[in-house]
Amino acid sequence: METPVHVRMREGAWRVVPVVLLVALLALAQADSYGLRTVQTGDSVGSIASRYRVGSASVIEANQLAGTLIRPGDVLRIPLGDATGGIVEAAPEPPFGFRRHVLASGETLSGIVARYGITLDALVGANPDLSSLDRLPVGVELLIPPGEGLVVQLEHPSLLLEVVAAYGADPMAVARVNGLRTPFDLRAGMLLFLPDVEPTAALERLAKVREAENRYVWPVHGRLTSYFGRRNLGMGTAAFHRGIDVAAPTGTPIVAARSGTVTFAGWSARGYGNLVRIRHPGGAETWYAHASRILVSVGQHVSQGQTIALVGSTGLSTGPHLHFELHVGGRAIDPLHELR
Ligand SMILES: [Zn+2]
Repeated sequence: METPVHVRMREGAWRVVPVVLLVALLALAQADSYGLRTVQTGDSVGSIASRYRVGSASVIEANQLAGTLIRPGDVLRIPLGDATGGIVEAAPEPPFGFRRHVLASGETLSGIVARYGITLDALVGANPDLSSLDRLPVGVELLIPPGEGLVVQLEHPSLLLEVVAAYGADPMAVARVNGLRTPFDLRAGMLLFLPDVEPTAALERLAKVREAENRYVWPVHGRLTSYFGRRNLGMGTAAFHRGIDVAAPTGTPIVAARSGTVTFAGWSARGYGNLVRIRHPGGAETWYAHASRILVSVGQHVSQGQTIALVGSTGLSTGPHLHFELHVGGRAIDPLHELR
């Protein structure tokens, strides 16, 4: 009967360890004092000084060394107070376990995601300052993360616990994946990986950027069978085609070309059959005609790329296709040049 209780207490104690460890790290990091470093095989005064970003002279002086001779097993005092200059200015190193990828000509984020076997969310989490998902300059450097999570920059070591709590990250996981074992591992301006934290804000911002860059996306992918404008009906007659026709099998999803509010969703007596109309920010409207099914209702907000209806051949139509119109300022214009 004693063993299980004992085990449970130990498990409980272990769960407290990472938080206590982090607090201890912070206390040490903030104290204007010395840290201790046991000399390892291969260490030199210079390598230790550079590891902790202090001058060799500071290390020599703090340990009253006669020269630069040190031996494995010696315990050196590292003057933490000296380790300030240049730290913030130094380019932040990627967190432990990250790789770098320099974007080459012709590469896309979806290609990179596939190549490294990660998700787009993970890539965005590792690079939350990305300017775009679709139009990135060649040569931009991307961090390739080992998994899902968010990379944040730690402005000051004293903010560590606050940051971990603000994002709801697991302190133990944060300490582990960032290799936080001593106060020297915490630096102002360092990049901190918060595993399993979703890059919600970055994803929302990039969705808006994507929409601004590609104002209207193709509502259906298929064969363009009729262009906008006057079309000859033969025998000296002509009609004005107010949109474009895209042939696709019945039931193919039709997506909103841009986000907006549904202003019409139902049967049109004017030959459009089942028709959806969406009003977009700024007042432009897109129309989607001949649907076999409508999946939205009036007043509903839809996002770009969201399925709103299914391809059909209702109304004045000779086969399954989408008739798509773009209205700007109350007039139908040629949508072809606006579609991306
Ligand atoms: Zn048409």
